[in-house]
This record gives sequence, structure tokens and C-alpha cells, in this order.
Amino acid sequence: MTMSQPTKTTCPYCGVGCGVLAEASADGNVAVRGDPDHPANFGRLCSKGSALGETVDLDDRLLYPEIEGQRVSWETALDLVASRFTETIAEHGPDSVAFYVSGQLLTEDYYVANKLMKGFIGSANIDTNSRLCMASSVAGHKRAFGTDTVPGCYEDLECADLIVLVGSNLAWCHPVLYQRIVAAKEKRPDMKIVLIDPRRTMTADLAEMHAPIKPDGDVALFVGLLKHLADVGAIDDAFVSEHTSGFEDTLNAAQSVDVLSIVERTGLSSAQLKDFFDLFARTEKTVTVFSQGVNQSYCGTDKVNAIINCHLATGRIGKAGTGPFSITGQPNAMGGREVGGLANTLAAHMELDKPGDRDRVQRFWQSPVIAAKPGLKAVDMFRAVADGRIKAIWIIATNPAASMPDAGDVEAALRKCPLVVVSDVIAKTDTVRHAHVKLPAAAWGEKNGTVTNSERRISRQRRFLPLPAEAQPDWWIMCEVAKRMGFGTAFAFQSPSDIFAEHASLSAFENEGNRDFDIGAFGEISQNDFDALEPFQWPRPAGESSRVRFFANGNFFTPDRKARFVKTKIEDARREHSAFPLILNTGRVRDHWHTLTRTGKSQRLSQHYGEPFAEIHPDDARHYGIADADLVRVSTGSAAVLVRALISTRQQPGSIFIPMHWTDQFASKGRVDMLVPSIVDLISGQPASKNAAVRIERFVAETYGFAVLAHKPEHIDAEYWALAKCSGGWRVELGFASAREDWAAFANALFGASPAAETIAFHDRYSARYRFACYRDDMLLGALFLASEPVAVSRDWAVAQLTEAHPRAARFKMIAGRPGIGGADKGATVCACFGVGVNEIAAAARRGCRTVRAIGESLQAGTNCGSCRAEIKTVIEMQNLQAAE
Ligand code: SF4
Repeated sequence: MTMSQPTKTTCPYCGVGCGVLAEASADGNVAVRGDPDHPANFGRLCSKGSALGETVDLDDRLLYPEIEGQRVSWETALDLVASRFTETIAEHGPDSVAFYVSGQLLTEDYYVANKLMKGFIGSANIDTNSRLCMASSVAGHKRAFGTDTVPGCYEDLECADLIVLVGSNLAWCHPVLYQRIVAAKEKRPDMKIVLIDPRRTMTADLAEMHAPIKPDGDVALFVGLLKHLADVGAIDDAFVSEHTSGFEDTLNAAQSVDVLSIVERTGLSSAQLKDFFDLFARTEKTVTVFSQGVNQSYCGTDKVNAIINCHLATGRIGKAGTGPFSITGQPNAMGGREVGGLANTLAAHMELDKPGDRDRVQRFWQSPVIAAKPGLKAVDMFRAVADGRIKAIWIIATNPAASMPDAGDVEAALRKCPLVVVSDVIAKTDTVRHAHVKLPAAAWGEKNGTVTNSERRISRQRRFLPLPAEAQPDWWIMCEVAKRMGFGTAFAFQSPSDIFAEHASLSAFENEGNRDFDIGAFGEISQNDFDALEPFQWPRPAGESSRVRFFANGNFFTPDRKARFVKTKIEDARREHSAFPLILNTGRVRDHWHTLTRTGKSQRLSQHYGEPFAEIHPDDARHYGIADADLVRVSTGSAAVLVRALISTRQQPGSIFIPMHWTDQFASKGRVDMLVPSIVDLISGQPASKNAAVRIERFVAETYGFAVLAHKPEHIDAEYWALAKCSGGWRVELGFASAREDWAAFANALFGASPAAETIAFHDRYSARYRFACYRDDMLLGALFLASEPVAVSRDWAVAQLTEAHPRAARFKMIAGRPGIGGADKGATVCACFGVGVNEIAAAARRGCRTVRAIGESLQAGTNCGSCRAEIKTVIEMQNLQAAE
């Protein structure tokens, strides 16, 4: 097979922004590998990036425009969207419409959306799912620095002597950055890592110190640290006096907080606090990394400022190996910030609440209007949809019916909205099902543009696949609607390169060094130069080179160019509620991304966790009568999910963790954001997704089931089901509240059995065990195993049967075996790259492989992307412990 030349592009998942070399072959297969020249990853990729080639097929793609479920032409769809938006605005005003967009968009798409809403429709009702990800960091940066600047770069993580990770599970959520730190620590073992996180995540395995802080205790921790820094003389007086303001007030407030209340609020002992404070105070080269554990909180902005205060006080900012460092969750959250994709910002890091900025942007755009006030932030936007203030919403590249807090209410709001337009690449999502108009968008690999990663590095995403069927890039779709609304001149872009050039020009327009974001060097970029654009860090003003770090010598972006210390409040938002005594924390798992629309297509990535789960401490499990692998119902007053119990000492007593990924497309009741209330940080508007009050109870299933299927089922009639891609088809975990009269009918419906298919069955009514296997010719269409307790059949063996031929004489094997049939079970997948399971690693450890390297040499596990090395280490340690007992 002749391969094309590899295309240099960028991974579409997390904010690390790794460079990818993608090669498409003539048969449609896509091979990917890390780009050795990209400065974010130098050739590394994590498990998700490595499996990108498995996610580009056209299964489940939205390929044609639709109105009310009927295929229509682009002309018809675009005309309808433009006319309905125009009519709604004419009748009810510009604030009666809204766009809800995404950190998945390329910067050029984002730029067009923002320009259309703020400069031509005249409303700021455009917000983004990045509101759920890093709005508190934006607000904290702006309060301290006067603008939304990330001061440092990834290299700082490698040259720091201390890295403090706050609410950041880097090992799973930003694995390539984690690998860069692992490599740096191997070279300099004296480098120290502290993890501050209520959960003992996989990242803890790299840390010298894990501080299991109470949820949202971070402000108290960093207020205590500021006081300690002053007490031990670690303040950089020169930096503070020359480059900051507000220090005295902030320190006085910190000094009024007694140590006991910090112990109480953080849940950490005095000794733990002292160890951390002393380490921070004596280590000049310190970077504090923070992510969603900081941002997704009712006090996220105060957390960010409490962290920044400590860096300003010690002058640890802008110098190699120092600085507060917000790592974003999404691939282009930063690009969205640059174009003003949030409802309260304006393009090119200008502000809606500054009349001079509004005037400047309007003159640059030559627009008829400019939004006069901030628009509705995500939670308020969907409330306005619910109460009828917003009558038309366009949702682009995101899935709010699954990912917004109070997801059930969001869905109800969409059901009532007179016009819901959704642009997406996937035909069936929890949100797309409510769309009156569906617009097929280009996916990763099919579109061109730029993204910005967490270290301000702008990289190209490049197209290497043709646009399938009638899919179109988002910028094109929005420009076509804008033209039909009468704004043709301002949206006459011919390519993403035109849009990038305008975006760059605006960043430099009347700038003169007063605004941090300036990429004026690219204001006249040609198509050829855009095609060849190498990754670079902003700023890049015309005639200057990029600046790697900001603020070593002050020069902040406040009116007096001094940074602001911000007094932060220590509050306890936890409301004791005897009916809902557990704290729910939500987040990501290693191998999945957001709402599974892409990673759910990969059988490799679906092996790590194949179903939604609740991680619960053994004490709580005992208290609630829950055993490992039981099904559990986790609920609030108004909503519930049904998930698998996973008992783990990584969880603190009194709290549970449920991943954010499962939707109605992959599980019967797995949408955890149904349980997250719409409580937001009052400054940033970011929802508090990590501290919800819930209760848990065992779900008593009369019958459990497991099935492998050659084809994805249309519908599954069971109280609990969870669907995961596997080699040759799909695997399904099942739970039934009551036994069925006719299991054979259930099995045939699940298999999608046609008259040509042949089903064989085994029933043991005494022990309530049933097995069915369905064949067409020699191939297995499906097998179903049912029992009164969790089914103990080897999942690997059952999955392998989907791709093997089954001569008639051998078919009995499928249904006649006892639990555990099929020999050794690899166990849950740990290494997704090489498909190595936990039982194989444990066995190798028992044979004498006592290091991650030895396991790699024996099984290959952990030798590709490295995302699983922390888990391999844990499995080895468990074996060592058991051997010592
Ligand atoms: Fe993609 Fe993984 Fe790199 Fe994130 S760390 S950008 S998910 S390859």
C-alpha cells in the first residue's frame, strides 16, 4: 500500500497540544505518530493521541444537512437558519438569540462566531464549553495581571526544583506533560513533586507528598502559605514593592486567619501543612500547576488568585522554572480566549466592559453594532433558553445535554426552545437529538486552521482527509449564514488563512504594547506561509520574535503596570445534608475524552474502562453494603445515575468519584452531570463540578448479563446497560431489576437476529443461568450470558469469538462452558497501546518483574505512550505488598 507523505497536524484532545504526524492510506486507514519536531511533545503521544487513527471512520457521522429529521440541501438549511435568526432578532431583539460553542473549534471558526454575534448581531450571547473548563483561571489572571496571560511555558516544568500540582491529575488528563516531568525527574531525582488533591490519583505515584485536601480547601491552604512565607522571611520585597500593589492588605487578611481554621478547612494536619509550607518557602524554582480541581469550584477564581498571590509575593513568576501555571483541559480553550469566545470578553484580549475596546473593535470590523454589555454565561444561557428569553440557539461542536450541570434541565430547555440548530460531526448525541436543524461539520483531519495550547503556542491543524459527503468546516457554515443575514462583506473569507490574517491584524490594531496578545507579525500572512506555519508562542508582534515568558520584570497589563494582590475569602460551601451525605467529584479517565463521541469509537481506548463507575472508599462501601462490581444508584433529590461500584482506597471516605464521559448513547443512566447542580463561581460563572451532595445505594439486580455483538444494537431494554467498542463489534454489560419471561426474545432483539440467523441456547433454570449464541454462516452475530450474580465469563475470550470462525460442531463451546471459560483472563486493560491487562502484569510481577522497565521488557506494556506507567507501578506494588503479607 502506498502511503502519502505524513501531514504535520495537532492532536484534537487536551490542552497539551501535541504535534502529530498523520498518514492516510488509500484504503482510508490513518496512521499517527508523535511529531518529533513539535515543541509540546517532541514525538511523544499519550494513549488517546496514539489511537486517533481509530476515530476517523465515518460510522455515526452526520453527513448531510437535515431539517426536522429530513435531508435537505445546504441552500435550504442555511436559508432557514439565517431567516429564523433574522426574524427572531427583528421581533425580540438581539439578546433573544445565542451561540453555544466549544474549545474543540479551531481559532478561525471561533473568530467568525464571535465576530458574527458581537459585531453584527449585536449581542454577547456567545459562550463556550470552555466556561466549564477554565473560566476561573481567566478571571483570576485578569484580576491579578490585568489580562488573561499564562506567564510561563512547558520548559518551566522541566527546570523547576518543585512542582506543586493542585487539582490536577496530570498522569491521566495531560499525560504527555506528565511524561515530560517523569523524564526530568529521572534526570534530576532531587526535583520534588507535591500533589494537592482530595483523591490519590495516579499522579500521586510520582509525588513525594500527596496532600489529600478537603474539597475546595485550596483557598485556605494558599492563604496559610502566604502567611507562612511572610513569617519565615521568604517574601521578595523588591519585586513586591516595584511590581505589585495590594500586598499589605492581602497579607494582613491572611495573618488574621489562625492555623487551626486552616487545618479545619483543608483537612490536612499541622505537620502536613508545615512540610508543604517549608518546602515551598525554601524552593526558589517552584511552578504551581492547576487545573479543573481549582477551576471547577464555587470559589475557583479565589483559588487561582490565592495561588498567584504566593508567586507574586516570592517574585516567582516569569523566570525559568517558576510561575503559576494554568493547564487547560481542551485543545483550543486558549484560542477561544484569544478571539473573545467567552460571553464577557471581546476579541484579541480586549474587554466588553471597556468602551475604548468596544469602539476599537467596532472600527476594525467596520461593524454596524457592537455588543454593549456582557452576554449570558453558559449556565445562565441555558436558564434563559428554559424560561423563553432565548428563542433560537445555535450549538456548535459540543454536547451540553450531557456535559452541562443539571444536564436534565438543559435537555428540557432544548425541548422547549423554538429553534435549536446544531453543527456537529456526529449524527446521534444527547444534544443532536433535540436539533430542529442539523448541520454536518468537518472533523479532525478534514479541516484547516490553528489551535493554541496551554503554553500560548499556536500550531496548525492541517487537513489530510477529504471532506466526507456534504460536511463543511464550521467557519464556512457560519460565514454562509452571516452572508444570508446581510453581512456578506465582513464574512467574505475564502479560507482559514484569510481569517487568521484578520485575527492577527486585530491583535496588533492600536496595540502599542498595551495588550499582551499581539501576533501582528502574521497580519499579512499568505496562503503559502499559512500552509507552512511552524508552531510559535505568542506574542509575536510585527518585526519581533516570540516572547517565551511574561512578567519577570513586572510590566503587567493593569493601568499602573503593577500586578494586583487579591484578598480571597475562606468559606465552607459544604452544606451538611443527612439525605445526601457523600461528596461527588467528577472528572476524566485516562483513555476517554469528553462525551465519548470520538474515543468511544476506539476499541483500544474502550478497554481501559468499558462502563461508567463510581469509585468509593472501602469504609463507605462496607457502610452501604456495596461489594466490588455491584451496580449502584447514585442520586440527588431529582436525578440519578446507575453505575458500577469500584472500591478503592484512592478515594477518601465520604466522597465518591464518577467520570464525566458516559452519555445516553453509551449507557442507560450514566450522565453524571445530571447530578451536578448549577452552582457557579460568582466571578467566573464556572460551574462547581467537583463538590455535589449525593447518596448511594446498591441496585439489586435480579439478573446480570454480558453480551458481545457484531453490530451496535439500536435499543437495549434493560435497567442497566453500558456499551463499549471491542475488536469485531461491541460488548455490553447488563443489569435487570427483574427476570424476564422470555429471555430468548430479549437475546434475539439484542442480536438483531434475522431469519437467516441461527440461535442456540443453554438454560439452567435452577441456577438461573442462561446463555445464547447467534450465528450467521460460521460467524458469531452475538452471545449473551445471564446469571443471578455478576457474570464471570472471560470478557477477552468472549470478544475474541466475534472475529473467529465457528464451525457447527464447535458452537456448543460458546454456551456450554462454566464461568471463566476460555482460559486465562487478561483482566482490565492497563496498557491500551499493546492491549496488556492487569492480570498479565500481576503475573509478570509475581514472576520477578519488579520495575516498570522490567514489565516493559517482558510484556511491552508502558513502552509506547507511557500513559499507563503509573498504573503498572501500582500493580507491581500491590503484588509486592501481597508477597510481603
Ligand atoms: Fe493529545 Fe495526549 Fe498530547 Fe493531550 S497529551 S494533546 S490527549 S496526545
